[in-house]
Amino acid sequence: MNSHHLHFHLDGTHGVLTFDRENSSANIFDRPALIELNEKLDALSAHPELEGLIIRSAKPAIFIAGADLNVLSKLQGDKLRDLIELGQATFEKLARLPYPTVAAIHGACVGGGYELALACDWRIASDASVTKIGLPETSLGIVPAWGGTTRLPRLIGLPAALPLILGGKILSAGAAKAKGLVDAVIPRENLEAHALTCIARGKRRAKSFFHLHNPVSVAVIGAKAKKSLRQKSRGLYPGPEAALDIALASCTSPVEEGFRREREAILKLAARPETRQLLRLFFLQERAKKHRVADAEPRKIGRCAVVGAGVMGAGIAYWLSTRRHEVILRDLDDDALAKGMKSISKSYDESRKRRILTPIEAARGMDRILPSSVPVPLDRCDLVIEAAVERLDIKRKVFADLSARVRPDTILATNTSALPIHELADSISHPDRLVGLHFFNPVHRMPLVEVVRTSTTSDETLATAVAFVRSIGKLPVVVKDAPGFLVNRILMPYLVEASRIFERGGDPKVIDDAMLDFGMPMGPLRLLDEVGLDVAAHVARTLAEAFPNRMSVPDLLETLIAKGHLGKKSGSGFYIYENHSNTPNPVALELRAGGESTPSDVASKLSHAMSEEARRCLDEGIAETADDIDLAMALGTGYAPFRGGPLQNELNNPT
Ligand code: NAD
Repeated sequence: MNSHHLHFHLDGTHGVLTFDRENSSANIFDRPALIELNEKLDALSAHPELEGLIIRSAKPAIFIAGADLNVLSKLQGDKLRDLIELGQATFEKLARLPYPTVAAIHGACVGGGYELALACDWRIASDASVTKIGLPETSLGIVPAWGGTTRLPRLIGLPAALPLILGGKILSAGAAKAKGLVDAVIPRENLEAHALTCIARGKRRAKSFFHLHNPVSVAVIGAKAKKSLRQKSRGLYPGPEAALDIALASCTSPVEEGFRREREAILKLAARPETRQLLRLFFLQERAKKHRVADAEPRKIGRCAVVGAGVMGAGIAYWLSTRRHEVILRDLDDDALAKGMKSISKSYDESRKRRILTPIEAARGMDRILPSSVPVPLDRCDLVIEAAVERLDIKRKVFADLSARVRPDTILATNTSALPIHELADSISHPDRLVGLHFFNPVHRMPLVEVVRTSTTSDETLATAVAFVRSIGKLPVVVKDAPGFLVNRILMPYLVEASRIFERGGDPKVIDDAMLDFGMPMGPLRLLDEVGLDVAAHVARTLAEAFPNRMSVPDLLETLIAKGHLGKKSGSGFYIYENHSNTPNPVALELRAGGESTPSDVASKLSHAMSEEARRCLDEGIAETADDIDLAMALGTGYAPFRGGPLQNELNNPT
């Protein structure tokens, strides 16, 4: 049979099995790939000379990226059962080979890729940043069903395995080593030499954890995990719940029983609407990583400058420097810069502690930032991102100054939340290089960047901006230069409506809980406190000016701001933020007109406010497609992913 996915060669007494899927930059498991592996393992199990087997990948950035989700998402019933059984049987065959096996991991090793590694005796990983390890299945609504849910607790213990499986976490090589997912982390070039030392150590005996096979300790660990899962997911995500049940049950039963439960669970989960929506969002993200947005070739961006070292400027400079861009960070005075650099240094410290970056990577990243409180030459910058205060007059001055000091082809971007970007066009020469790059706060956590196309933005600028956003590991959604762009435009009517319900006498906890139960990551009043009431009111005013017939800023919000209750940053807003207190702010409660209690259909009213605005945005062409709108809301606000976004939700729950 011709090889499409695998090559084998004998190197002395050990064999090397190399995954190298034909005509593809990724190795993935579909039926043909599993069949080929299965047949290879049959031949290898009977190989007379072998004393060990190393499994590796020939791809530059991927070990094995898991199951082919395009295939998996279309299968149900017997066909799905067949594929799951085939994967389980193949990996079990690998686990039962009579000599030691080593997964030598370089690049993404996730889902089915890591389940294959779990079936080996040893797992070693390269220290490269492309090496990512984990079982993300539950975040897609399913469970690791090629043995992962059963095997991981046996490798690292139930308490360590549960957060990884239930959270669908993907780790850097360093973090994976710290959690026990791999045995060693080494430079890529030493992987094979190290694999030989693993082979020399022989086949591995199963570890013994005192709680495995002990029903009482499994029950105690399970009760704690169930409680924490309920608190986090409020019973809205069947994937993690099923994974928890399987992991617990399989601890006290043979592995075959665990595999049976994995199969049954995935068959049920695959048919659920939540899974369909989660997979749809996954495919939309994949599309956002590559689809062509303009009829031009992007230019390469090297050195950047960021103007403004506040919350956003510092966040953006940090992120760009982690992605190997040299960054000039500019602010008005040394104090503002020192504050920005302190927050960047804190972000690097955290990345080091969480083993996302090695100490050397963190030190190098920090060195890439050049802070300056005086004008410095910008002629070597390919991109400048302005993140100064949200005032058009100030931004116009900043852009006029930039225009005089950068090359004519340097892209000039603004991070404005809601100001009309086209009004900056006449302050610069060559306004075809003007674009909005709207990052979300906190920059290192939020995956979305709205790329705002103005009436003057050229195709080349747009293509370059989109390619740049992708190159720094964020997902772009292209939007029109219109008030509030897309995400804030849809979010604001929801936040305003929540404030009004409160104003009329609503109970803040009931309002917030209703939206947590709907699936939002945070209630709307708490979100207002987090964003800052002044910042939110500023965006709301911009929208009110643009849409006076249907938008206005609630009086209560203005009064709270005037009294200094700006939300979390001032210690109080709708809630009090002293000593981790969770109590509503009595001043805010006092300001309510009273009379009405919280309506019983508050979640439906508030979610409708978002869906209605999303529909208007679609009609006005603010984003190109309904999919773009749903994706932007899921990524930009955490809109209940299992509902698929405000337009899908409206479609599935018409009012
Ligand atoms: P911030 O107040 O924290 O920081 C602004 C910084 O810009 C300050 O350090 C200030 O000294 C500096 N600055 C002011 N004028 C300047 C000038 N002429 N040259 C250089 N520096 C100057 O504000 P922020 O929250 O970081 O917001 C910055 C921009 O990002 C605003 O346009 C805002 O609307 C937008 N934005 C904010 C958020 C958010 O959640 N904070 C989210 C997305 C976008």
